[in-house]
Amino acid sequence: MVYTSLQSPVDKTYRFQLNMAHLYGDLMNTYGDNGNVLMLKYVAEKLGAHVTVDIVSIHDRFENKHYDLAFFGGGQDFEQTLVAKDLPAKRLAIEEYIRDERVMLAICGGFQLLGQYYIQANGERIEGLGVMGHYTLNQTNNRYIGDIKIHNEEFNETYYGFENHQGRTFLSDDEKPLGKIVYGQGNNSEDGTEGVHYKNVFGSYFHGPILSRNANLAYRLVTTALRNKYGKDIQLPAYEDILSLETPEEYADTKSKAEFE
Ligand code: GLN
Repeated sequence: MVYTSLQSPVDKTYRFQLNMAHLYGDLMNTYGDNGNVLMLKYVAEKLGAHVTVDIVSIHDRFENKHYDLAFFGGGQDFEQTLVAKDLPAKRLAIEEYIRDERVMLAICGGFQLLGQYYIQANGERIEGLGVMGHYTLNQTNNRYIGDIKIHNEEFNETYYGFENHQGRTFLSDDEKPLGKIVYGQGNNSEDGTEGVHYKNVFGSYFHGPILSRNANLAYRLVTTALRNKYGKDIQLPAYEDILSLETPEEYADTKSKAEFE
């Protein structure tokens, strides 16, 4: 299913082409997660890429070689049960996509379903794709809800979001967290981790949506996808040139002027 409303403007010239799959986008789309698709497209176009977006859902083939970016959003337990039944048919294609180091963002329910299994709020176990090592347990009469802030040491970046999940996820030894918690609950409220970073898969419990609140992460995802496709040495506009409105000094200056007006 092609998102025709999301096609890049045709009257511009583009240096690049990026193809995006929105996995189960008709079912897994809670808390404005679709905003991540809009943000990836926005940043890609700023970087000179023409973008196509397809929903790849139940019974669709996931043509892994065609896609440069994939997004797998969050969902309620009911929708996750439906999706889990279809996942085995896409297992090999998604596994190969991840092994090829292609870029994926997975939020909340999507993050859970990439792992080994997920125990729902009612205690029932649903199988994940099993392509990554993490697993997700449930909790009794509780959800982790609220604002959250994390820091990624490798990238020296800070990310902000809003979490709302009952699942408690535990990473495997070959998975890094997306960040260490500054405040909030994160994966399980025990080990100080939030999300996952494995090859070029970025998983998180952040809604908000994560990319519109964290343009630095959106820039990282899109530039990684472009370098995968067009080579490590391509020249791309700097983050500051396309996404930050002002330098910190200019921002401070604007603020202090505004205070006097
Ligand atoms: N149903 C899952 C949970 O509650 C995922 C929720 C979500 O995607 N927001 O943990």
